[in-house]
Amino acid sequence: MFVQLHRFLPLTTVEGPGRRACVWVQGCPIHCKGCGVPWTWNPKKGTKVSVETLWNQILESKQKENIEGITFLGGEPFEQAEALSELGRRAQREGLSVMTFSGYYKEQLEELQKPFWQELYHVTDLFIDGPFEQDRLDHKRPWVGSTNQRFHFLSDRYKELESELSTVPDRLEIYFKKDGTVEANGMVPSEVWNRLFKNI
Ligand code: SF4
Repeated sequence: MFVQLHRFLPLTTVEGPGRRACVWVQGCPIHCKGCGVPWTWNPKKGTKVSVETLWNQILESKQKENIEGITFLGGEPFEQAEALSELGRRAQREGLSVMTFSGYYKEQLEELQKPFWQELYHVTDLFIDGPFEQDRLDHKRPWVGSTNQRFHFLSDRYKELESELSTVPDRLEIYFKKDGTVEANGMVPSEVWNRLFKNI
């Protein structure tokens, strides 16, 4: 079983609660206007990585980085639900939490019956659904881009956050790599991105 992968980050503190490893899948058919990561749309790009390889990287993150969970985002995770649900199952067995983003609303997933969507849904502790809507920017809640996107606390794991979301700040991580390139992740308004990167 394989994941068409855009990027794997062994440790992030800006893509969900606490310290997490993060899996960005490659391929998204939703094409939201104003999407911040259109380079993840093409399902033929990215790298094909086996579930086994990715799982070993996640285990290494657990040992070396003391992560508490993993986050699936994209691209669109529910286009690769079988492989991600397998990773999610293994993660939960290891005591790691699972956070999954989707550009589909839950009702759409029910209607579309994407293969293995229920398996991925059922191994998820914190589920965020809905497409990005650039006219409804969310400046209050962490991790999401627009106010239409919904938080679903599917287990007790992060239940306490439900009433405190507006107190969790959005943050940004920027990596200056040895080869001179810069990588960033996190959710901040586009004007902040523009201000930060206009001289780079
Ligand atoms: S669902 Fe996410 S990755 Fe897909 S187009 Fe919308 S914002 Fe971009």
